[in-house]
Amino acid sequence: MLVHIKDIISKAQKEGYAVAAFNTFNLETTLAIVKGAMNKNSPVIIQVSETTIQYAGLKPITHIVKTIAKNEAVKIPVALHLDHGKSFRSVAECISAGFSSIHIDASDLPYDENVALTKQATHYAHKHKCWAQGELGNILGQKDVDAGLTEKDTERYMTDPEQAEKFIKQTEINTLAPSVGAMHGLFPGKEKIDQERLKKIHEKTKVPLVLHGASGVSNEDIKEAIKNVVVVINIDTSLRQEFSRSLRETLMSNVHEIDPRKILTPPMAAVQKAVEEKVEIFGSTNRS
Ligand SMILES: [Zn+2]
Repeated sequence: MLVHIKDIISKAQKEGYAVAAFNTFNLETTLAIVKGAMNKNSPVIIQVSETTIQYAGLKPITHIVKTIAKNEAVKIPVALHLDHGKSFRSVAECISAGFSSIHIDASDLPYDENVALTKQATHYAHKHKCWAQGELGNILGQKDVDAGLTEKDTERYMTDPEQAEKFIKQTEINTLAPSVGAMHGLFPGKEKIDQERLKKIHEKTKVPLVLHGASGVSNEDIKEAIKNVVVVINIDTSLRQEFSRSLRETLMSNVHEIDPRKILTPPMAAVQKAVEEKVEIFGSTNRS
């Protein structure tokens, strides 16, 4: 069933587990996410990025998620969220489309400009009974690694707990995406969560924390972060990787198959399996 994100997050916060926020980009991934969460009897957040909105269209992708949440996810709560909204316009469009939560990511702007845009988006979201996630510090990704940033450099981009406290007061966001060592993309062995920083950010802010870039973080580190109060964990790369790997394998081993339904069935199963594994690690099994 489709619910407001606050129902899912409040329960996770109270009971001490994390909920996965999986990115979808099409019908097949959405079905696989819901089937995986249903098998685990787990709540789930389904999110879309601006790139997905450009690819599928806002209305089509919104309707795909909503209708699957209503008709297929009969026993589990599902919430719809915008991941990394970069502009006020993009946030406003998703709110009109019926999202219960948006992420306004102005983290690459100077602090004051980040505050101004986050505040504007948050006020608008609240007026429409929607939750807002803000971002402070820079969560690094492939382009930063390509530019030669090392692990030591990454510390400079991490969230300062004192500044986070001020940021929450100024913007009134509901959830915070801090930069604590995880990166967007898969960089095995290079991503290490600064657990002490995470704890301090929680002490200072008290808002639910969202871990971005968790696809390449070790399970141990993730479990420790959940203990240290991470309530939502974003997973994008892992699902896309599984979908593409399985699709490639299926096509290569069935070169004459022309039925897309047959070709797309194994990738859906691969995504579903990845979803079930993440849910198990995050501790949200049987919490629907
Ligand atoms: Zn992210």
